[in-house]
Amino acid sequence: MTRRCSMFRVLTSVAICATAGVLIAAQPTTDTHRFTEIRNGIYLAQTTDPVFNSNALVIVNDDDVVLVDSHVTPSKARDLITAVKTLTPNPITALINSHHHWDHAHGNQEFADIPIIGHEFTYTKMSTAPLQEGTYTRGLAGNDARLARMREQVAATTDATERAQLEADLELFAAHVRDFDEIAPVPPTVTMNDRMTLHRESRKIQIRFLGRAHTGGDIAVYFPDDKVVFTGDMALGGPSYLGDGFVDEWPQTLENLKALDFDVFVPGHGSAVTDLNRIDLVQAYYRDLWQKTAAKHEAGVSVTEASQTIDLTNHTLIPIRQVGVDPLTVQRIYDRLENPD
Ligand SMILES: [Zn+2]
Repeated sequence: MTRRCSMFRVLTSVAICATAGVLIAAQPTTDTHRFTEIRNGIYLAQTTDPVFNSNALVIVNDDDVVLVDSHVTPSKARDLITAVKTLTPNPITALINSHHHWDHAHGNQEFADIPIIGHEFTYTKMSTAPLQEGTYTRGLAGNDARLARMREQVAATTDATERAQLEADLELFAAHVRDFDEIAPVPPTVTMNDRMTLHRESRKIQIRFLGRAHTGGDIAVYFPDDKVVFTGDMALGGPSYLGDGFVDEWPQTLENLKALDFDVFVPGHGSAVTDLNRIDLVQAYYRDLWQKTAAKHEAGVSVTEASQTIDLTNHTLIPIRQVGVDPLTVQRIYDRLENPD
């Protein structure tokens, strides 16, 4: 199959046009972002700074741009807005939130003048004390712990060249942490429960709720004509963060995802995935995780002991190499068992 190579106005670019295969490996890069064109003006956008951040999707249409996910801070969202201008002069007219998590949605305030589309659950989460959410406060604690480790490394080194590099890394990360002070969460302004379609001249952008998974309101953004789907954190190349997850329902949600006609998916973190068998592997892992954790719960085993003894090393292709599960995951599954809703 022959595909057209897009033209980019970018600071630097590496454009490799494939004449066969699934992906067009065009990767324009700016000071802040690397874009990977998945198909026909649908770009995966990733920040180049070495900080934790979500993917975003940039959908360049004939007359406008639609974004999925707003990044981790308002500062990173502004970087994204600037970087998108190197791809197209078209205006950004809508933002879609894949789910409410801070790393995907705390840039929302930079899009307050356009519709922000999300699931009802996402609206509820983001309009009800989002800065007190456990997943967010643990993220802040993780930032502080990393800052402390980086300061210790600077203090410990005796090599001047290494110290200069570590200090530069520390300053970059400290600036990123300071950016969090600016966060004032903005929930979606347009909400949906089941599905919604944005009709553009040459494409349909389907926003689909396929069931509870990584959160109670994950949506997939599906391009039926291009056979592409953006999955957010509902489907990554491996297991996702499970602290707010519905592990009992998640395999069925992924089954619903597989019922869509696509041959590449763009996850909320990491590269685009063309090996769709990864979804089957993760489904099997979640089923097994749920059953083994439920058995521990049934036997009255504590969260701590269960987290040290649950053995999922049979999932060699994930791969799981050590016995044990994150205590947060065990706690979440115990909570689901004790308070099903
Ligand atoms: Zn998430």
